[in-house]
Amino acid sequence: MISVEEFSKILDILEKRYSIEFPQHISEDPFKILIGTILSQRTRDEITDKAYETLFDRFPTIESLAKASIKEIEKLIRPVGFYKVKAKRIKEVARIILEKYSGIVPKDRDELLKLPGVGDKTADIVLSFGYGLPEIAVDTHVETVAKRLGIADEEDKYVQIKRKLEDLTPLHKRSMINSLFVMFGKEICRKPRPRCSVCQIKNFCKYYRSITQSKVTRY
Ligand code: SF4
Repeated sequence: MISVEEFSKILDILEKRYSIEFPQHISEDPFKILIGTILSQRTRDEITDKAYETLFDRFPTIESLAKASIKEIEKLIRPVGFYKVKAKRIKEVARIILEKYSGIVPKDRDELLKLPGVGDKTADIVLSFGYGLPEIAVDTHVETVAKRLGIADEEDKYVQIKRKLEDLTPLHKRSMINSLFVMFGKEICRKPRPRCSVCQIKNFCKYYRSITQSKVTRY
């Protein structure tokens, strides 16, 4: 199990590698973050980014998106996975935020979770990136890195992984964990083949220990 001190060293290494200066990455519009995260579900980043730009070029405000036809939204976001379901959700989310929350995305987890298409991860992304709150959004990269390091167990689900990371992370650094682990997961701790030989945090890693020990046992 990784200690608070060890995790602090891991964060130092990753912060230096990816040059994240808190809170530089937090300043985006919560509504755009919310819609972008809905678009990104089960979709590759490049495709999400393109659809996001096309959608907001045509409908730049919540009002315009709430009035848009579902067919037109579908056409604009077509390359993303489940575009028909997402088009309906996006219009509905825009309408609810406009009518129920006076056009302001709620800054409250329980309210966010009531919106169509919004689960734990999307809520945490909006709260951390949109509002700078100390939440850790657990996506596939965060989950993989946390499990390989030995912070979370294989069978752990969203809330357990998040709680275990929170126990190790000071409040003011929680909202940067997602960005750091996503960059690290894409570059080094890749799925399915992590680049352990060039990893700067391998000395802290449970997965690395297990593969090196099994090699030693074989020889
Ligand atoms: S040693 Fe390998 S598995 Fe462990 S964190 Fe680094 S890249 Fe990931």
